[in-house]
Amino acid sequence: MSRTLFEKIIAREIPSTVVYEDDLVFAFKDIHPQAPVHVLVIPKQPIPRIAEALPADQAVLGHLLLKAGEIARSLGLEKNGFRLVFNNGPDGGEAVPHLHCHILGGRQMGWPPG
Ligand code: AMP
Repeated sequence: MSRTLFEKIIAREIPSTVVYEDDLVFAFKDIHPQAPVHVLVIPKQPIPRIAEALPADQAVLGHLLLKAGEIARSLGLEKNGFRLVFNNGPDGGEAVPHLHCHILGGRQMGWPPG
């Protein structure tokens, strides 16, 4: 299977601005930010999307969410708030088939989302 763009970012074959990394997850700044703070948190193992996650992925998904909260706090987003987004499939607006959590903050978010 061909490697995803995000696997190449994890391997540093494609440059990114790294925000956080550990054994299970990798976080980096989105190249087309949709808010003053826009960071992507991804599992190092390439789960395509949340609808294809398996029971065996439970630990990494829990870890990813905990780290998303920690990263948001570390970026100063806790007081005013922020949004976490997982786009899944065509209607969800997913462009990269490697599960990723968008952390968006630094401005008022709209609802419903576009
Ligand atoms: P999604 O539409 O949910 O699949 O989100 C994919 C995100 O990846 C978009 O917000 C893109 O701006 C972002 N993206 C694509 N290529 C890169 C890259 N080379 N470095 C950082 N972010 C990227």
